[in-house]
Amino acid sequence: MKNNETYLIHVKGLVQGVGFRPFVYRLAHRFHLNGTVENSNDGVFVRVTGNFKDIEIFAKAIETEAPVASNVDSVDVKKIDFEDFIDFKIVKSKNLSEAITDISPDIAVCDACLDDMKTQPHRIEYPFINCTNCGPRFSIIKDLPYDREKTTMAPFVMCDACRSEYEDVLDRRFHAQPVACNTCGPVYKLDISGEKIDDLPEILKNISLLIKRGEIVAVKGVGGFQIACDAQNEETVKRLRKLKSREGKPFAVMFSGLDVLRRFAYINDVEEKSLTSWRRPILILKEKEKLAPSISVGFDTIGAMLPYMPFHYQLFEHLDLPAIVLTSGNISDEPIVIENEEALEKLSGIAGAVLTYNREIYNRTDDSVAMVVNNRERIIRRSRGYSPEPVNLELNVDGIFAAGAELVNCFCIGKGNQAIMSQHIGDLKNLETLEFYSEAFGRFKKLFRFEPSVAVCDMHPDYLSSRFANDIGVPVIEVQHHHAHIASCMAEYGLDEKVIGVSFDGTGLGDDGNIWGGEFFVCDLADYERYTHFDYVPLPGGDTVTKEPWRTAVSYLYKYIGKEFLNLQIPFVEELDFSKAEVMLQAIDKKINCPLSSSAGRLFDAVAALTGVCGVSKFHAEAPMRLESVVDYRMHHAYPFDFGDTVSFGNTMFDIVDDLLYGESVSEISTKFHNTVINSILAVVSQMRKETGLDKVVFSGGTFQNRYILSNVETILTLEGFKVYTQSRIPSNDAGIALGQLVIAAKRREIEEW
Ligand code: ZN
Ligand code: ZN
Ligand code: FE
Repeated sequence: MKNNETYLIHVKGLVQGVGFRPFVYRLAHRFHLNGTVENSNDGVFVRVTGNFKDIEIFAKAIETEAPVASNVDSVDVKKIDFEDFIDFKIVKSKNLSEAITDISPDIAVCDACLDDMKTQPHRIEYPFINCTNCGPRFSIIKDLPYDREKTTMAPFVMCDACRSEYEDVLDRRFHAQPVACNTCGPVYKLDISGEKIDDLPEILKNISLLIKRGEIVAVKGVGGFQIACDAQNEETVKRLRKLKSREGKPFAVMFSGLDVLRRFAYINDVEEKSLTSWRRPILILKEKEKLAPSISVGFDTIGAMLPYMPFHYQLFEHLDLPAIVLTSGNISDEPIVIENEEALEKLSGIAGAVLTYNREIYNRTDDSVAMVVNNRERIIRRSRGYSPEPVNLELNVDGIFAAGAELVNCFCIGKGNQAIMSQHIGDLKNLETLEFYSEAFGRFKKLFRFEPSVAVCDMHPDYLSSRFANDIGVPVIEVQHHHAHIASCMAEYGLDEKVIGVSFDGTGLGDDGNIWGGEFFVCDLADYERYTHFDYVPLPGGDTVTKEPWRTAVSYLYKYIGKEFLNLQIPFVEELDFSKAEVMLQAIDKKINCPLSSSAGRLFDAVAALTGVCGVSKFHAEAPMRLESVVDYRMHHAYPFDFGDTVSFGNTMFDIVDDLLYGESVSEISTKFHNTVINSILAVVSQMRKETGLDKVVFSGGTFQNRYILSNVETILTLEGFKVYTQSRIPSNDAGIALGQLVIAAKRREIEEW
């Protein structure tokens, strides 16, 4: 006892709302150490008294044995004034502002619970089993502090068995708020055209039968309803496409397990880690063996995920199928359905049976989507399993509301120096999505005790998000779209300095009134200077070009070749409707509904249309995606381009036309074009480095979801001595815009002292 000293162990990282304090308690118990554990704004503090050797091992165990959903960044041990503790205590959070970090994302069911499902008498085959390490969180939390009464578990009264586990600090279910069992917890109910079944074995039998028979079913998931069917039944998948009025976008697929998935897709170590992580995203993988062709509609990739709810495991046990389509339960672009009544009403037109359960979903979350490029997970849609995990910043962002952009919208709120991004909301183009946006904002205000003092939005006055920001009654700052993209990536890395910013995407309003999207900035968080950009090209018909890439191709040909392009003997021109084209050319000449655009997305559109890969687009960014999908990774040739005041692809177009005349393959043309874009980036940023001395290059914008562009740009620029920053935890598409807006506003507030 003489050698006993008191130490303060500071654990930093994602350590709150994940059962970390009970975990430390149990660990201290095992090590026979006395002291305290408590949450703070800056992680978890543990005070323990003992000899240094023991405490060193104890601190190591905190790191190595931490709960699955936690993420320990650092564990610091330092000696403090001696204190004689008589036991080990969890010190309760007093401060509400600290309690906000207690809201964890939803966590996939853990292995221990899957075991308990087979062995624990009161939880045999219980489909809502959970523990402090797993189960629903964000989707069921209505208010703070995070206690059972403040969740949608409130109506369920714990049975004696559950309560004793819940109250026993040494139990895995100590203070697991959604704790439940066969006696006391939520239950499923299956509705087959009015006939109701509530016995689980019967439900599983019936659902499996329906799926195997080629029927479509609706299933209530963690964050909303989903539509499921046999992923190998082409006829059914086709029917589902029709019923969902979703023509082109690939469907996500859930596989029964990792080994089965390996048969259908190539998986590297990083991809395996992502797929099996507690976050369980849909991961975009390279396809090996085909499922029903209508799932991936011509792409050689597959959006795959593994089971994450106990029910998914049970279903696959009964199904004896390798995979099911599991797509959002909604009608075309509306938010996914979360209410039982609404599901029975709206989804029964698509699904022959609807599976509900009697626990309310409070916060709607879609499945998240990610991919792995250069051995790092890149989030594309950030929702279940990720939201509302905060982004920690050096900046004070308190009281700032960032409204986001329009497509794949997320908003963001600032609490202290944490940015909290909303779950995926969707395209803010219809009333239902706007309602969801407004409702989610209201819930974030309550949940995170947030009161906006300033709002920040895109410069585009017509975005519904911009209008929303202007309607909440606080001062509003407008931010340029591509500056926000770059700032979003900077925020991810805590950059607060002058950098080179490369922002490529489909569309965003520029400060000259034109449509930007192929932008090179010298910028910091507060401001930007447009160094150069892709050449302006008129977009005949304005917004319609996004659905009709062939229009942009006509415009490119007209700009660089002149009217003679109509004589070219290439398939694109031969198939062109000349009377339509004539009208377009006149509109371009007279500048009628032909906004100018420097967008990289439109350049990809033009090449996709020109090569016949995609002339008419059925879903957002289809043309660039299809163009990317034919790239040959072994080819290094490229086309010429010009870089003067702007970056011009006139000579690129000439040579593409030549290649088309010579009958070169689409794959070769696409690859050379991709390489040209990569070369143009290298040329411009090299020049910028020479002139400015800056060597940090920050990339963002939807174009950097193109794997070939992203991986090559990152690799090549790093080899050229640049420090390269690309997005990983925050989407590089418009879903990341809100974070950028937030930090820009915060930085301006700091500098201008308002
Ligand atoms: Zn568990
Ligand atoms: Zn119970
Ligand atoms: Fe954008």
